Amino acid sequence: MNVIDRLNYIRKHLKEGVRLVAVSKFQNSESILEVYNAGQRLFGENKVKELYHKYQQLPKDIEWHFIGHLQTNKLNYVVPFVDTIHSIDSFRLLNKTNYCALKYNRRIKVLLQMHIAKEVNKFGFSFGEVENLLSDKLWKTFKNVDIIGLMGMASFTENQDQITKEFSSLSNFFLKLKNQYFFDKKNFKELSMGMSGDYLLAIKQGSTMVRIGSSIFGKKTKNNEINSEIEREI
Ligand SMILES: *Cc1c(COP(=O)(O)O)cnc(C)c1O
Repeated sequence: MNVIDRLNYIRKHLKEGVRLVAVSKFQNSESILEVYNAGQRLFGENKVKELYHKYQQLPKDIEWHFIGHLQTNKLNYVVPFVDTIHSIDSFRLLNKTNYCALKYNRRIKVLLQMHIAKEVNKFGFSFGEVENLLSDKLWKTFKNVDIIGLMGMASFTENQDQITKEFSSLSNFFLKLKNQYFFDKKNFKELSMGMSGDYLLAIKQGSTMVRIGSSIFGKKTKNNEINSEIEREI
């Protein structure tokens, strides 16, 4: 199968209403354009420099989602054009994103990244931390960020029950927050969960956005000239 076959295969397996974020990290503009030309407009990147560079090179009707760990001092590079940030993992980052978006006169859609995996080194809030954040009224004063949902990554394991359990806990927490804090906010409706290895399980648990890289583009190759080029630029 080539890239387009793999893209179409995945599209066929998505439930209606589930959006595909094509994760184009490590890919050069040429491969991204191939997928773009097959009609894909939503792409995800996890590195600021890489995203910044690709934004400049690629068609402007691409909807860019940032999905990686974001440092506040890099916000200026992505806030001017990014559509959605999936990876808000601290109050400080939420606050600074709002401030930066105000500066550029933008309103950015954001998801709160939850730590649901067993691994200790993954970023994200605990359920309790998010409850603390939301029970304080301060976030409601942030006019330039729109909290549209939650994001999470399951444990890196073959154990399907474990993965299902983690997705389902995120899904339940999402519903709880919706009832408690977002009942009057119709935009709070997104659950970003599911990657190449587990997107079908995620969809079963209510995912509305799957972030898929290697199953579309193939495994990461050594052909990463573009990255060293970007390193020099910023
Ligand atoms: C790389 C990445 C993905 C896509 O992973 P694949 O397994 O290649 O589909 C999804 N989400 C995040 C946050 C990523 O960094």
